[in-house]
Amino acid sequence: MHVIDPPNGGWSFATARESARFGACLANRVPGLPHLRGVQHAGGADGTLCGIPERRIARVRSLFVPDDPRSCPRCREEAESAPTQPCVQERLHDRVLESVRSEIRDELLAALREGANVPVWLNCPSTVAQHYARLDGLTDGAGPAAEALAAAARPGVANVEHDRWRFLVVLPEDGRPPVVARGPRDLG
Ligand SMILES: [Zn+2]
Repeated sequence: MHVIDPPNGGWSFATARESARFGACLANRVPGLPHLRGVQHAGGADGTLCGIPERRIARVRSLFVPDDPRSCPRCREEAESAPTQPCVQERLHDRVLESVRSEIRDELLAALREGANVPVWLNCPSTVAQHYARLDGLTDGAGPAAEALAAAARPGVANVEHDRWRFLVVLPEDGRPPVVARGPRDLG
């Protein structure tokens, strides 16, 4: 048998969990207190992980890097001990569980549990989503997938590659269940 994907031995949702990520922020200068220039803190839901309140920080458009020598030691400690996050396959698996039961859905769920490649998962305007969905290449479930895409202004669209197949998942934005379709994978 021709093997398309390399074996993924030992892979599981548990081993594939990812470190929690936080946005970087800088503390504002406070009169009367020493100011440490360039120290980056990790931004939490309200202020930094080391406890600087939101009104005293400026959030910057980059991620907090715990290993960086300029990073705040308390934020580093908090960031490194934060609970890990599910990987992309686990997150998509949990969404696909909401979809209507079918053979294709069950195959997709099994593929995600084995760590199938997810080259695309984004939310975008319907016209852009159509491009990533590549509806012409689908052989199973193309109709309902096209309807779900057309019905949403900004749907989520994910492609999953596994074995000989490309699975498409359309995630409507209004809480309706995801729609799963499938076509032969373009093995170029
Ligand atoms: Zn800090």
